[in-house]
Amino acid sequence: MLAPSYQKLKDILSVTIDSKRILTNPLQTLAYGTDASFYRLIPKIVILAHNEAEVIEIIKQAKKLDIALTFRAAGTSLSGQAITDSVLVVATHGWKNFELLEENKKIKLEPGIVGARANTFLAPHGLKIGPDPASIGACMIGGIVANNASGMCCGTAQNSYQTIADIRIVLHDGTVLDTADAKSVDAFKKNQTDLIQEIENLRDQIKSDETLYNQIKNKFKIKNTTGYSINALVDYQDSIEIIKHLMVGSEGTLAFISNVTFKTIIDEKHKSCSLIFFNTIKDACNATILLKSAPVAAVELLDRESIRSVENDDDAPAYFKTLPESACALLVECRDNDVTVLKEKQDAIRLQIQSIPTYTNYEFTSNPKQYYFNWKARKGLLPTVGGLRKNGTTVIIEDVAFPLPQLADACLELKDLFKKYEYHDAVLFGHALEGNLHFVFSQDFSNQAEVDRYEKLMSELAVLVVDRFNGSLKAEHGTGRNMAPFVEKEWGATAYEIMKRIKNIFDPNNKINPDVLINPDPKAHLKNLKPMPESHAIVDKCMECGFCEPHCVSEGLTLSPRQRIVIAREISRLEESHDNPQRLADIRKDVTYQLDETCATDGLCALACPVHIDTGKFVKTWRANELNDSNKKAGAFIGSHMAETTAVMRTGLKMVSFFHSLFGTKIMTTLSNGFHFISFGKVPKWIPEMPKGANKINTKN
Ligand SMILES: Cc1cc2nc3c(=O)[nH]c(=O)nc-3n(C[C@H](O)[C@H](O)[C@H](O)COP(=O)(O)OP(=O)(O)OC[C@H]3O[C@@H](n4cnc5c(N)ncnc54)[C@H](O)[C@@H]3O)c2cc1C
Ligand code: SF4
Repeated sequence: MLAPSYQKLKDILSVTIDSKRILTNPLQTLAYGTDASFYRLIPKIVILAHNEAEVIEIIKQAKKLDIALTFRAAGTSLSGQAITDSVLVVATHGWKNFELLEENKKIKLEPGIVGARANTFLAPHGLKIGPDPASIGACMIGGIVANNASGMCCGTAQNSYQTIADIRIVLHDGTVLDTADAKSVDAFKKNQTDLIQEIENLRDQIKSDETLYNQIKNKFKIKNTTGYSINALVDYQDSIEIIKHLMVGSEGTLAFISNVTFKTIIDEKHKSCSLIFFNTIKDACNATILLKSAPVAAVELLDRESIRSVENDDDAPAYFKTLPESACALLVECRDNDVTVLKEKQDAIRLQIQSIPTYTNYEFTSNPKQYYFNWKARKGLLPTVGGLRKNGTTVIIEDVAFPLPQLADACLELKDLFKKYEYHDAVLFGHALEGNLHFVFSQDFSNQAEVDRYEKLMSELAVLVVDRFNGSLKAEHGTGRNMAPFVEKEWGATAYEIMKRIKNIFDPNNKINPDVLINPDPKAHLKNLKPMPESHAIVDKCMECGFCEPHCVSEGLTLSPRQRIVIAREISRLEESHDNPQRLADIRKDVTYQLDETCATDGLCALACPVHIDTGKFVKTWRANELNDSNKKAGAFIGSHMAETTAVMRTGLKMVSFFHSLFGTKIMTTLSNGFHFISFGKVPKWIPEMPKGANKINTKN
C-alpha cells in the first residue's frame, strides 16, 4: 500500500501519463530501482517518462506533494547516485532523438541515448563525442553528463565539462532553461533574477578569495568528480555559462537534463599501442610524467597483480609469468589520421622516455591480434576480479586521482593499504596520464566485521588521498552516497559551504536526488548496502553492471537480464530468510510473465557481459524448474513422440483451414473467440494468419 501522498501523486499523474508506465508493484520497483552500485534503495514509484512535458508535470506535482525525485539514465553508476526510496524517474525510452549541427561540429543528444550509439551517428564523419567512459556501450548521455564521466583518452581536456556547448534543463519548479535558445535565456534571466544573483554572488565571492580560487584551479588540474563542478565559478563569468557547466557532474541533484549539445571530437583513423614493462612502479610513473608532453592518446597503468590476471591467456607472452614482483606496465596508445605522422608520434614517445630503463624491448603495434590482446589485458581486469570473487560478495571499483608527480608514491601507499586490510585480490590500474587510479576488489557486506573492515579502509583511504597527496577521492565515477560523507574532508569547510549553497539555490526544498553528493550523515556510505545472495550458479557472478541491457530484446517490454537476475536473487533471499512471505508472494505473482515468458533466451546478453553470463540459459533452467509434474510429463511425451505430434498438428491445421474456407473469416473469428472464452482460455484463439497444415516431408528420397 502506498503512503497517501504517493498514492495521490500516482493518481494525479495517471491522468496525463499512461498508467502502465507508473510502476508500483514490488517486482518492477525492485528491478528498476537497482543500479550498478553496491547500494540498494527500492523506490515506491518508478515512472517511465517519455518526454519533457511529462517530466515537467512530474516535477511540479511532486513539488506540490513534497515528494523527492531521482532521475535515471542507464543505471550503470557505481557510487549510489542513481537510486532512491522515493520516486525514480527513468528517462530512457522515448529520449533517443539527436541532431547534427553546424556541419557536424556539434551534436545535440537526448539523455536516453547510449554513448556508443551517439558515436555511431558521428563515425561516418570521422568524429566522436569527447567523454569515453569504459561503460560507453551501456551508459547514456544523461548519466554521462550528470556524472562528468570520462575514460582512457578524453582526460580532463575532452570530458563533458570541456566539450559541452549547450544544455536544456528543467528546474525544481518546472522552469525550463535552454541555453541554445536566446529567447529561453532572456526569459530565464528576467524571471529568475534571484537565482542569477546568487550564482553571481558565489562567483564573486570565490574570485575575491585567492586561497579558494587557487584551490579550485589546482584541484581540477587532475580529474575530480568529488562534489559539484565549482570550477565553473572560476572558469566563467557569464551566469548562464556557469549554470551550464555546473550541471555537468551534478549527479541529477540540481535539475533534469532534457538534452545536451556537445562539440564533436576528431576520431583518428589509425591507432597503435604498446605494452611497455618497467622494473618498478616508480619507473612507470616517472615515464608517465615524461609522456604528459608526448603525443600520446592514452597511458594506462597496470600493476603486477593486473598482469598476473591475464598471464594465463592464450595470447599472453610467456615472460608475463616470470616478471618480477616489482614490475609495472604502461599501455601507451597513439593515434592519427596519417600513418606517417603516427610513426613520427611513436618515435617521439620512444625518445621522450629513453632515459628510463624498460624491463624488455617494446614495439608499437597496429596488428589487430596484438593490439586487441594489449587492450584486452587492460579491459579484462574488472571481469577477472568479478569472475573470481566468492559468491555473495560485491566487486568494488574505487576511483581516485593524484597529482602526477606523486603518483608513484601514492601507488605504493595504496598497495600497502590493501595489504594492511587484507584485500588480497585488489588490482590497481588506471588512466596514469591523469593520475587517475582505479582499484578493484571484492567485498562481503553480509556481516558486521566485513562492513567494519570496509569502513576502516575508506577512512584511511580518505586520509591517504586527501591529507597525504591532495588528490581526488572520486576522479570520474561521481560522488554518490559512497563519497558524500567525505566531500567536506576533500574540499574543506569553505568550498563545501559553497557546494551546499549551490544545492540550495537549485533545490531549496532538497527534493531532487537528496542525500547524493551533499549528505550530512558521516556513515551514509555504510548504509543501504545491497544484499548479494546466492541464487543460481549461472548468475551468481553477476555484478549488476547493466552492460547487458542494450543487447536485450525484452528490455523495456518487461525485464532486462540484469533485472531478471535481481529478481531471482530477491526470490532466493526471501525464500531463504522467510522474513517477508507477502513480498515473496507478490513478486512471485508477476514473475512468470516478467522473468520467464518474455525472455527470448537468445543468449545475446552474454556477448556484452563482462563475466559472460548467459541469462537466457538461466531462464531456460528457471523455466524447467517452474514446470509442474504434469507439464513435465506432457513435455517428455511430446519429445519422445515427435512424429506423431507433428502429424496431429498437421491434421489439426488442415481441418482449421478447411473450416475457414467453409465459414469465411468473420464467422470463423466469432466462433474461435467463443470457444476461447468458454474454455477459459484453454482453446487458443484462431487468427486469419494461421498457416494451413503442410504436407509431410518425404525423407526417403
Ligand atoms: C563496469 C563499469 C565501468 C565503468 N567505467 C567508467 C569509466 O571508465 N569512467 C566513468 O566515468 N564512469 C564509469 N562507470 C560509471 C558509469 O557507467 C558512468 O558514470 C556513466 O556515465 C553513468 O551513466 P548512466 O547512464 O548509467 O547513468 P545513471 O547511472 O542512470 O545516472 C547517473 C547520474 O546521472 C543522473 N541522471 C541521469 N539522467 C539524468 C537526467 N536526464 N537529468 C539529470 N540527471 C540525470 C542520475 O540521477 C545519477 O545521479 C563505469 C561503470 C561500470 C559498471
Ligand atoms: S548479467 Fe553480466 S552484463 Fe548483465 S548486469 Fe550481470 S554482470 Fe552485468
